[in-house]
Amino acid sequence: MTPRPRVRPDAKCPLRPGQPCTLCQLGVTGPQDCGLVRLVMEDDELREGLHRFQVAARRREGGGAPA
Ligand code: SF4
Repeated sequence: MTPRPRVRPDAKCPLRPGQPCTLCQLGVTGPQDCGLVRLVMEDDELREGLHRFQVAARRREGGGAPA
């Protein structure tokens, strides 16, 4: 069986604000099937921490929190 070529997706990584998905997890095709993203999104505390991190990142970049 020939291995599938790894094509970098255009999608952004939900865990790294402003950064593209780099397929850092084994066997993923993007954020949609990333186990790490799923793990974070399914955990209330991790999801809340990610939200705070994203808000802080937007503020650093000069954007505000969404209304
Ligand atoms: S594979 Fe998952 S954790 Fe890695 S960059 Fe892509 S979305 Fe982010």
